Amino acid sequence: MELADRVESLTPSTTLAITSKAKALKEDGHDVIGLGAGEPDFNTPEYILDAAKNAMDQGLTKYTPSGGLPELKDAIIDKFKRDQSLVFNRNEIIVTIGAKHALFTLFQVLLNRGDEVIVPVPYWVSYPEQIKLAEGQPVYVKGSEDNNFKITPEQLEESITDQTKAIIINSPSNPTGVLYTKDELEALGEIAIKHNLWIVSDEIYEKLIYGNDNHQSIAEISEELKNHTIIINGVSKSHSMTGWRIGYAAGNETIIKAMTNLASHSTSNPTSISQHAAIAAYTNSEEEIERMKEAFEERLNKLYDWMMEIPNLSCVKPQGAFYLFPNVSKIVNQSPFDSVDEWVKQLLEEEKVAIVPGSGFGSEDNVRLSYATSLDQLEEAAKRIKKFVEKYS
Ligand code: PLP
Repeated sequence: MELADRVESLTPSTTLAITSKAKALKEDGHDVIGLGAGEPDFNTPEYILDAAKNAMDQGLTKYTPSGGLPELKDAIIDKFKRDQSLVFNRNEIIVTIGAKHALFTLFQVLLNRGDEVIVPVPYWVSYPEQIKLAEGQPVYVKGSEDNNFKITPEQLEESITDQTKAIIINSPSNPTGVLYTKDELEALGEIAIKHNLWIVSDEIYEKLIYGNDNHQSIAEISEELKNHTIIINGVSKSHSMTGWRIGYAAGNETIIKAMTNLASHSTSNPTSISQHAAIAAYTNSEEEIERMKEAFEERLNKLYDWMMEIPNLSCVKPQGAFYLFPNVSKIVNQSPFDSVDEWVKQLLEEEKVAIVPGSGFGSEDNVRLSYATSLDQLEEAAKRIKKFVEKYS
C-alpha cells in the first residue's frame, strides 16, 4: 500500500521495539530482565491516584481548554517559581499529552521545510523523527565521549547555517545521563542568541539528579536566554506517571498560542482526569519524589560499579536520569558479532537481558541500560552481561 511520504522513512522507536521483544519472550515463559524501558518502575504516589479518583467522582470527565486547565497551568507556574525562579503567565504555558507531544507540536509550529535543528548526539530517539515529520532537517553534532558526550561552543558555532532555526538541549540527557554546567549552558546560549536561534530545553529529567549536582535550566541564566528558550517538562519521570500522559511547554507566547491552536485541532485537550492528577503532583510535598530519587541513586552507584567490573567496558558516570550508556566497542570488536546491534540481539537471545543498542541514539559504540528496576534484577543482569562478555572474548 502506498502511504504518505512523511511516514515512509519513519523508523519505529528502538526503545519500544526492544521492550516489546523482551515482553514477548517473557510471555513465552523466559526469565527475561528488561533494562530497556524508559520509565520509573515505582507506582504513581497514592495522593496522585486519590486526586484522579476524586476528579472522576466529581464528574470532571469532560473536555477541558485545549491548552490545559487553568488550575494546572497555575500549579506549573508555581512550580517554575519554586524550583527555578522563573516567572511565566498562563499564556506562556501549554499542557500537552506528555512531553513527547509538547515537542512534536513545537516542531510543527516552529519549522518550515528545510529549517535546520541542531541535535546533539547521542540524542533521544524521537527528536530526529519529530523534526523530519515537521519537514525540518536534523543537524547532528557529536558530543565526544572524552567531553562526557557534551557538545562544545566551537562545535555549535561551526554547525550553524542560514537555515538553522533551533538547538535542542537535553540536560540531564537521555541516553547518557550527563548534565551541562551553568558555564557550559551560558557559552552555548551566547551563540544561540548571536544567531537568533530558538533553544528547545528538554528538562524532563530535572528531578532526577544525584550527588551534589543541581539542575540548571538555560532559561534561568538571563532574561534574554529565557526569551529564546522553550522549556519542555512533564510529570512522567519525576512522579512516575508515564501512563498518565501529562507534559507541558513554557515560553514565548506566540509560539504557545500556535501550539494551542494546533492542539485544538489535533488532540482537543489532555485527559481531564490526568490533568487533575498532575495538579496534585505539583501541589503536594515532594517527599515521595525524593524517596524515588534516592532509590535511583543507590541503583546507579551499584550498577555502575558492577558494570565497571566487566573487562574492556568503559562508561561515563551519569549525573542524572536513570540510564547508563557504556561503550562496548572493544568488547564487540573482540567478539564474533559484526556490530553492537548484533551483540545486543544475541545478549537477549542467550542471556535474556534486554538493553538498547546505541545506534538508535546515534552512537554506534554504546548501549543503553535503564536502571529503573530492582537492585536484585540489576545485579543479576550485570552478572549475565559479564558472563556473555567473557564467553565471547
Ligand atoms: N524527552 C526525553 C529526553 C525522554 O526521555 C522522554 C521519554 O522517554 C520524553 C521527552 C517524553 O516524555 P513523556 O512521557 O512526558 O512524553
